[in-house]
Amino acid sequence: MLDADFFRRWMTAAAAAVDREAERLTALDSPIGDADHGSNLQRGFAAVVAALEKEAPATPGAVLQLAGRQLISTVGGASGPLYGTLLRRTGKTLGTDAAEVGEERLREALRAGVAAVATLGGAAPGDKTMLDALVPAVDALGESFAAAADAAERGAEATTPLRARKGRASYLGERSVGHRDPGATSAALLVAALAEAAD
Ligand code: ADP
Ligand code: MG
Ligand code: MG
Repeated sequence: MLDADFFRRWMTAAAAAVDREAERLTALDSPIGDADHGSNLQRGFAAVVAALEKEAPATPGAVLQLAGRQLISTVGGASGPLYGTLLRRTGKTLGTDAAEVGEERLREALRAGVAAVATLGGAAPGDKTMLDALVPAVDALGESFAAAADAAERGAEATTPLRARKGRASYLGERSVGHRDPGATSAALLVAALAEAAD
Protein backbone atom coordinates (compact mmCIF):
# COMPACT_ATOMS: atom_id res chain seq x y z
CA MET A 1 0.00 0.00 0.00
CA LEU A 2 1.09 3.56 -0.77
CA ASP A 3 0.81 6.19 1.95
CA ALA A 4 1.17 9.99 2.06
CA ASP A 5 4.90 9.62 2.60
CA PHE A 6 5.22 7.70 -0.68
CA PHE A 7 3.53 10.55 -2.56
CA ARG A 8 5.70 13.11 -0.77
CA ARG A 9 8.77 11.15 -1.85
CA TRP A 10 7.44 11.15 -5.43
CA MET A 11 7.10 14.94 -5.42
CA THR A 12 10.53 15.42 -3.78
CA ALA A 13 12.16 13.12 -6.35
CA ALA A 14 10.37 15.00 -9.15
CA ALA A 15 11.64 18.34 -7.80
CA ALA A 16 15.19 16.98 -7.63
CA ALA A 17 14.99 15.62 -11.19
CA VAL A 18 13.63 18.91 -12.50
CA ASP A 19 16.49 20.78 -10.75
CA ARG A 20 19.05 18.38 -12.21
CA GLU A 21 17.60 18.58 -15.74
CA ALA A 22 16.41 22.22 -15.78
CA GLU A 23 19.03 23.38 -18.28
CA ARG A 24 18.26 20.51 -20.62
CA LEU A 25 14.50 21.13 -20.45
CA THR A 26 15.00 24.81 -21.19
CA ALA A 27 17.40 23.99 -24.05
CA LEU A 28 14.77 21.65 -25.58
CA ASP A 29 12.20 24.47 -25.26
CA SER A 30 14.52 26.86 -27.13
CA PRO A 31 14.19 25.74 -30.79
CA ILE A 32 10.45 24.93 -30.59
CA GLY A 33 9.30 27.17 -27.73
CA ASP A 34 10.28 30.11 -25.57
CA ALA A 35 13.12 28.57 -23.54
CA ASP A 36 11.42 28.57 -20.17
CA HIS A 37 10.30 24.99 -19.53
CA GLY A 38 13.10 24.14 -17.09
CA SER A 39 12.73 27.34 -15.09
CA ASN A 40 8.92 27.05 -15.13
CA LEU A 41 9.03 23.58 -13.59
CA GLN A 42 11.85 24.42 -11.17
CA ARG A 43 9.76 27.23 -9.74
CA GLY A 44 6.68 25.03 -9.63
CA PHE A 45 8.20 21.99 -7.96
CA ALA A 46 10.14 24.11 -5.47
CA ALA A 47 6.76 25.54 -4.43
CA VAL A 48 5.30 22.03 -4.25
CA VAL A 49 8.06 20.80 -1.90
CA ALA A 50 7.81 23.93 0.28
CA ALA A 51 4.02 23.61 0.57
CA LEU A 52 4.21 19.90 1.42
CA GLU A 53 6.72 20.63 4.18
CA LYS A 54 4.61 23.44 5.58
CA GLU A 55 1.17 21.82 5.42
CA ALA A 56 2.10 18.13 5.80
CA PRO A 57 -1.08 16.72 4.20
CA ALA A 58 -1.98 13.36 5.74
CA THR A 59 -3.37 11.37 2.83
CA PRO A 60 -2.22 10.49 -0.71
CA GLY A 61 -5.12 12.41 -2.27
CA ALA A 62 -4.39 15.51 -0.18
CA VAL A 63 -0.67 15.45 -1.11
CA LEU A 64 -1.45 15.37 -4.84
CA GLN A 65 -4.19 17.98 -4.65
CA LEU A 66 -1.91 20.39 -2.79
CA ALA A 67 0.91 19.73 -5.28
CA GLY A 68 -1.42 20.34 -8.22
CA ARG A 69 -2.68 23.61 -6.77
CA GLN A 70 0.90 24.82 -6.28
CA LEU A 71 1.82 24.04 -9.90
CA ILE A 72 -1.26 25.84 -11.20
CA SER A 73 -0.61 28.95 -9.12
CA THR A 74 3.18 29.24 -9.54
CA VAL A 75 3.98 28.08 -13.08
CA GLY A 76 3.31 30.67 -15.74
CA GLY A 77 3.01 28.78 -19.02
CA ALA A 78 1.06 25.94 -20.50
CA SER A 79 2.75 23.23 -18.47
CA GLY A 80 1.61 24.62 -15.07
CA PRO A 81 -2.14 24.20 -15.52
CA LEU A 82 -1.58 20.91 -17.38
CA TYR A 83 0.66 19.26 -14.77
CA GLY A 84 -1.41 20.90 -12.03
CA THR A 85 -4.54 19.33 -13.49
CA LEU A 86 -2.80 15.96 -13.76
CA LEU A 87 -1.96 15.92 -10.05
CA ARG A 88 -5.15 17.56 -8.84
CA ARG A 89 -7.43 15.24 -10.77
CA THR A 90 -5.40 12.21 -9.73
CA GLY A 91 -5.63 13.39 -6.10
CA LYS A 92 -9.36 14.10 -6.35
CA THR A 93 -9.94 10.65 -7.80
CA LEU A 94 -8.04 9.10 -4.89
CA GLY A 95 -10.09 11.19 -2.45
CA THR A 96 -8.86 12.37 0.94
CA ASP A 97 -10.32 9.65 3.18
CA ALA A 98 -7.88 6.80 2.61
CA ALA A 99 -4.54 6.98 4.43
CA GLU A 100 -3.15 4.38 2.01
CA VAL A 101 -4.02 3.40 -1.54
CA GLY A 102 -3.26 0.30 -3.57
CA GLU A 103 -1.37 0.30 -6.85
CA GLU A 104 -4.46 -0.49 -8.87
CA ARG A 105 -6.33 2.42 -7.35
CA LEU A 106 -3.40 4.71 -8.14
CA ARG A 107 -3.33 3.42 -11.72
CA GLU A 108 -7.01 4.23 -12.22
CA ALA A 109 -6.59 7.66 -10.61
CA LEU A 110 -3.61 8.47 -12.83
CA ARG A 111 -5.64 7.38 -15.85
CA ALA A 112 -8.31 9.91 -14.83
CA GLY A 113 -5.61 12.56 -14.31
CA VAL A 114 -4.12 11.99 -17.76
CA ALA A 115 -7.60 12.09 -19.32
CA ALA A 116 -8.16 15.47 -17.63
CA VAL A 117 -4.91 16.78 -19.18
CA ALA A 118 -6.12 15.65 -22.61
CA THR A 119 -9.48 17.37 -22.09
CA LEU A 120 -7.93 20.62 -20.82
CA GLY A 121 -5.32 20.88 -23.57
CA GLY A 122 -7.33 19.27 -26.37
CA ALA A 123 -4.34 17.09 -27.27
CA ALA A 124 -3.98 13.39 -28.04
CA PRO A 125 -0.98 11.09 -28.34
CA GLY A 126 0.95 11.92 -31.52
CA ASP A 127 0.49 15.69 -31.11
CA LYS A 128 4.03 16.04 -29.69
CA THR A 129 3.13 16.94 -26.11
CA MET A 130 3.52 15.58 -22.59
CA LEU A 131 0.72 13.13 -23.43
CA ASP A 132 3.13 11.20 -25.67
CA ALA A 133 4.93 10.18 -22.48
CA LEU A 134 2.01 10.12 -20.03
CA VAL A 135 -0.40 7.90 -21.97
CA PRO A 136 2.04 5.01 -22.60
CA ALA A 137 3.23 5.32 -18.99
CA VAL A 138 -0.27 4.81 -17.59
CA ASP A 139 -0.78 1.89 -19.98
CA ALA A 140 2.44 0.23 -18.75
CA LEU A 141 1.74 0.89 -15.07
CA GLY A 142 -0.18 -2.40 -14.82
CA GLU A 143 3.14 -4.15 -15.31
CA SER A 144 5.34 -2.15 -12.91
CA PHE A 145 6.49 1.35 -11.98
CA ALA A 146 9.78 0.68 -13.79
CA ALA A 147 7.93 -0.39 -16.95
CA ALA A 148 5.93 2.85 -16.80
CA ALA A 149 9.15 4.87 -16.53
CA ASP A 150 10.61 3.04 -19.55
CA ALA A 151 7.44 3.58 -21.57
CA ALA A 152 7.43 7.29 -20.73
CA GLU A 153 11.07 7.65 -21.77
CA ARG A 154 10.45 5.84 -25.06
CA GLY A 155 7.37 7.98 -25.65
CA ALA A 156 9.35 11.17 -25.06
CA GLU A 157 12.09 10.00 -27.43
CA ALA A 158 9.48 9.21 -30.09
CA THR A 159 8.31 12.85 -30.13
CA THR A 160 11.42 13.96 -32.07
CA PRO A 161 10.14 13.12 -35.59
CA LEU A 162 6.61 14.35 -34.85
CA ARG A 163 5.08 17.61 -36.02
CA ALA A 164 3.61 19.57 -33.09
CA ARG A 165 -0.13 20.08 -33.22
CA LYS A 166 -0.63 21.74 -29.81
CA GLY A 167 1.09 24.43 -27.77
CA ARG A 168 3.73 26.94 -28.84
CA ALA A 169 5.67 24.39 -30.91
CA SER A 170 2.64 24.02 -33.21
CA TYR A 171 3.18 27.60 -34.43
CA LEU A 172 6.31 26.30 -36.17
CA GLY A 173 4.43 23.70 -38.22
CA GLU A 174 6.87 21.51 -40.17
CA ARG A 175 9.83 23.22 -38.49
CA SER A 176 8.90 21.53 -35.20
CA VAL A 177 9.95 18.20 -36.75
CA GLY A 178 13.35 16.91 -35.58
CA HIS A 179 13.16 18.33 -32.06
CA ARG A 180 12.30 16.39 -28.93
CA ASP A 181 9.34 17.81 -27.01
CA PRO A 182 10.32 19.44 -23.70
CA GLY A 183 7.02 18.59 -21.98
CA ALA A 184 7.19 14.92 -22.95
CA THR A 185 10.75 14.93 -21.60
CA SER A 186 9.71 16.40 -18.24
CA ALA A 187 6.75 13.99 -18.10
CA ALA A 188 9.23 11.12 -18.39
CA LEU A 189 11.14 12.62 -15.44
CA LEU A 190 7.93 12.75 -13.43
CA VAL A 191 7.21 9.07 -14.12
CA ALA A 192 10.85 8.13 -13.37
CA ALA A 193 10.48 9.94 -10.03
CA LEU A 194 7.40 7.81 -9.30
CA ALA A 195 9.43 4.65 -9.94
CA GLU A 196 12.18 6.05 -7.72
CA ALA A 197 9.72 6.62 -4.86
CA ALA A 198 8.54 3.02 -5.23
CA ASP A 199 12.06 1.58 -4.96
P1 ADP B 1 4.88 27.47 -22.53
O1 ADP B 1 4.81 26.75 -23.85
O2 ADP B 1 3.63 28.19 -22.19
O3 ADP B 1 6.12 28.30 -22.40
P2 ADP B 1 6.20 25.32 -21.08
O4 ADP B 1 7.39 25.67 -21.88
O5 ADP B 1 6.40 25.27 -19.60
O6 ADP B 1 4.98 26.30 -21.39
O7 ADP B 1 5.64 23.89 -21.50
C1 ADP B 1 5.66 23.49 -22.86
C2 ADP B 1 5.19 22.04 -22.95
O8 ADP B 1 3.83 21.96 -22.58
C3 ADP B 1 5.26 21.45 -24.34
O9 ADP B 1 6.54 20.92 -24.61
C4 ADP B 1 4.17 20.40 -24.34
O10 ADP B 1 4.67 19.13 -23.97
C5 ADP B 1 3.23 20.88 -23.27
N1 ADP B 1 1.97 21.36 -23.87
C6 ADP B 1 1.75 22.55 -24.47
N2 ADP B 1 0.47 22.64 -24.89
C7 ADP B 1 -0.12 21.46 -24.56
C8 ADP B 1 -1.44 20.92 -24.72
N3 ADP B 1 -2.42 21.62 -25.31
N4 ADP B 1 -1.69 19.67 -24.26
C9 ADP B 1 -0.70 18.96 -23.65
N5 ADP B 1 0.55 19.41 -23.46
C10 ADP B 1 0.84 20.64 -23.92
MG1 MG C 1 8.01 27.36 -22.83
MG1 MG D 1 6.43 30.24 -21.63
